[in-house]
Amino acid sequence: MATIPNHSDSLPFERNAGAKAITGPNICTPPRPEQMAQFQQGFAPRFLLTVDTEEEFDWGADFSRDQHSLNHVPRLARFQQFCEGEGVVPSYLIDWPIANSPEACEILGAAAKAGKADIGVQLHPWVNPPFEEEISQHNSFAGNLPRALEREKLMRLRDVIEKNVGVEPLIYRAGRYGVGQHSAELLKEAGIAIDTSVRPHWDYSFEGGPNYRGHPSTPYWVDQEKELLELPLTTMFWGMLKNQGSWIYPRMWRAPAMRGVLSKLALLERIPLTPEGVTTDEAIRGIDMALDDKLPLLILSFHSPSIHAGHTPYVKTEADLDQLYDWWRKILAYLRQRKVASTDVRDIMKQVIR
Ligand SMILES: [Zn+2]
Repeated sequence: MATIPNHSDSLPFERNAGAKAITGPNICTPPRPEQMAQFQQGFAPRFLLTVDTEEEFDWGADFSRDQHSLNHVPRLARFQQFCEGEGVVPSYLIDWPIANSPEACEILGAAAKAGKADIGVQLHPWVNPPFEEEISQHNSFAGNLPRALEREKLMRLRDVIEKNVGVEPLIYRAGRYGVGQHSAELLKEAGIAIDTSVRPHWDYSFEGGPNYRGHPSTPYWVDQEKELLELPLTTMFWGMLKNQGSWIYPRMWRAPAMRGVLSKLALLERIPLTPEGVTTDEAIRGIDMALDDKLPLLILSFHSPSIHAGHTPYVKTEADLDQLYDWWRKILAYLRQRKVASTDVRDIMKQVIR
């Protein structure tokens, strides 16, 4: 009897696998209204400053395992000091090369241990071992990797952060916003409490990435157990066509010039809250709209290589770098003026209602 295979056990599993049934929580699917997160009274509105803290690489070139540098790392100390002066606790979402830089770990670890910064995880799979996948556009989105490989890269990164920085990371962003159908359960397994990979209104599906055009900027629970909180990167539509924005924008990705035309006519503008490619006037419009929409939490972001001239398309010269700091000064002053206080990971976890 023992030699007869138990078909009744194996068949349903195989059938499910063939049908690609997704049963667990899935960040790629827009949330239902009942998933929206609520916060304790007096908490909202707040903002969280997130930094994609990563190696410098040529954003226009093909992905590479080793064509990168860490020249801006010493400048993290200046940015941290700037944040402390402004009373802001930044969340540094760090990836493999940063987590393996003793200098970065020293600067960020000291700030984190003093309660003046949070350390999170950012997975750039192409520079994160184990290296089993081919380097490609498709595989640059960690969520496209086989589940076991995405898991192994994530766990190794989390472990190296704990070992080298000395803190337990609670917040995650996929490099290139590239979560997949397994990411939510893997993040929960890794002890991550907050995901901030969703970039509403952006559609990366033409490169094989996620399509976020149906996602809101409002924080929401990814899972039924309320263990994984999603904090989408705040993106607002502005202009006469604002209510049609989520319909029009994705249809225009092949014609970027049209976006420029609509923007100049003040018909439609898509505004992420970042100094990279967004003026202070635009960002202020975005903040105003977010507050009009009663968004409880605004998520601001930018990339750490921008704090050193010459590494990103946005900061090419020392004058650009001065402008970047000016941008932050103006926007942080405006947030204070609008009574939007800064928050941090621990505060968010304490204030969110389960
Ligand atoms: Zn990145």
